[in-house]
Amino acid sequence: MVPRGPRRAIRGTHGRVVGYRKAPHPSGSGWCLTPDPESTTVVRTIVEEVHAGLSLIAIARKLNETGALVPRDRHAQLQGRPLGGRRHGRDFERFRWTSGTLSKVLRSPSLMGHRVHQRQTVQTVHDATGAPVLIGPPLLTESAFHLLQAVLLARSNGTRRKRWTANALLTGVAHCAGCKGRMYFALRKGYPYGDYGCRATARGDVCPAPSSVRSDWLEEYVLSHYHQTAPAEAEVTREALLRDGVRVTVAKGRKGGDAKRMTGPDTSRLAFTMQAPPAVRPEN
Ligand SMILES: [Zn+2]
Repeated sequence: MVPRGPRRAIRGTHGRVVGYRKAPHPSGSGWCLTPDPESTTVVRTIVEEVHAGLSLIAIARKLNETGALVPRDRHAQLQGRPLGGRRHGRDFERFRWTSGTLSKVLRSPSLMGHRVHQRQTVQTVHDATGAPVLIGPPLLTESAFHLLQAVLLARSNGTRRKRWTANALLTGVAHCAGCKGRMYFALRKGYPYGDYGCRATARGDVCPAPSSVRSDWLEEYVLSHYHQTAPAEAEVTREALLRDGVRVTVAKGRKGGDAKRMTGPDTSRLAFTMQAPPAVRPEN
């Protein structure tokens, strides 16, 4: 009887492990994972650039410029399937690197050759000494991996990143004039208001003129225009604005500006439109 070792074949991983590709198992039966030189080079470059102090956004931009494939596209290419596809309601010829993609890649224990399920090392796959059974030669040693995690963590704690949220009055209403994309809200620390800003970089896009505007100014502007045509409601909700097809487009402001800018928005940057005049709703 042929002994069946636990690593005889890997069948369940779909081969999508960053830095590796599926290859026929040397035993002649099933598949195993073997380093994929192309993505290995990409991963090594990314790690070097993190240590050189580049931000994930800067690294993503460089990768998009050089045309390096994201793991999902590289996997599709190796499988002979078309690149890109549909995502967030848009069609992509190929997917773009974002800081989110990079963060996922850089935090995956698969870089150490660990088998990973839902971003965690699979704890049951250990050999007699308790060490994880490797899916293939590691791209990073354990200590290099842990050093990388420490660098990433220190950076995310050190930078006071804005927390953008999709849960604001004008989400889906406010759009950036530069890229036509949605603007998102972030609170300013220590202020009673925040900003709506273009989030093209988070989508992996480059916006030619990313706009940003104080949230209280934009909300006031939109509500005053809305009230000119819509019957007054006790409290205007986001749902009401979306239902009535309200849209505001914000163009990038000039740098600097004069004292007037401290009292309100430069309304020449703003364009308010409403698709359908709202139906008059009965009182109560
Ligand atoms: Zn934009």
